[in-house]
Amino acid sequence: MSRPIPVRGLLAACLLAAATAAEAVALPRHHPVPGGVAVVPLGSAPERPAARYGGRPVLVVRAGDGWTAVVGIPLTARPGEARLAVAQGGRARAVAFRIRPHRYPEQRLTLKDPKMVTPPASALARIRAETARLRRGLAHRSPGVPERLRFPPPANGPLSSRFGLRRILNGKPRSPHRGLDIAAPRGAPVRAPAAGTVLDVGDFYFTGRTVLLDHGGGLVTLYCHLERVQVRKGQRLAAGARIGTVGASGRATGPHLHWAVALNGNLVDPVLFLETPSAAVAAR
Ligand SMILES: [Zn+2]
Repeated sequence: MSRPIPVRGLLAACLLAAATAAEAVALPRHHPVPGGVAVVPLGSAPERPAARYGGRPVLVVRAGDGWTAVVGIPLTARPGEARLAVAQGGRARAVAFRIRPHRYPEQRLTLKDPKMVTPPASALARIRAETARLRRGLAHRSPGVPERLRFPPPANGPLSSRFGLRRILNGKPRSPHRGLDIAAPRGAPVRAPAAGTVLDVGDFYFTGRTVLLDHGGGLVTLYCHLERVQVRKGQRLAAGARIGTVGASGRATGPHLHWAVALNGNLVDPVLFLETPSAAVAAR
């Protein structure tokens, strides 16, 4: 006698596969350079490990059948061996990874308006306070893990200025570009690339109308030069929710979205988190 097809067994197997897929997060691209992201396997022991880099806790997610640390590397990091301090099940160990050297492109710009290059002395106190507020926001870490680590871009448009670009303004070296510019037209929608909570909203000297989103686990994203802000502090957003519109507020030479991604307090290349980085690059 033949047995009926074990539908219940199949269904259970499908449900199990779906549950595993839901728990496993698509990881950002492993690009262990200054300003990049290191994806470091931490083994498959049952307890969730805690990992620290440079004294700060780093994001640990479930990937496949093991644990993975997703580490934001500061743009100022020295290439060479780096270490994670890992604590798991009451035991401590060091896990090494290598930071590779990387040379970002250089761009020379000439701006006629001196205010764009050197802010007036009257603005310095304001700039200092806003810089500290942004830095605090970018270093924020709330519990939990991000819903996703691969995103669609928050606005549609060609990528005009890449992360890490070393800018020489009127012959003087300025701080490198720590975000990704998307040259979307004025008024184009800006959307949350992943679920999160609005951490801060401000109107700042350099970055103009600005929104910070907290995605949990030390992942924070920043949206600058907005024309309109359509969220308020503390608001919970689903992936794809509208944040505001593209503009040129603050010190911007024209409408664009400056999008930045901070991981464990370090600004890293947002392209590493894009679902289709090759398509985004092709749009340049
Ligand atoms: Zn920018």
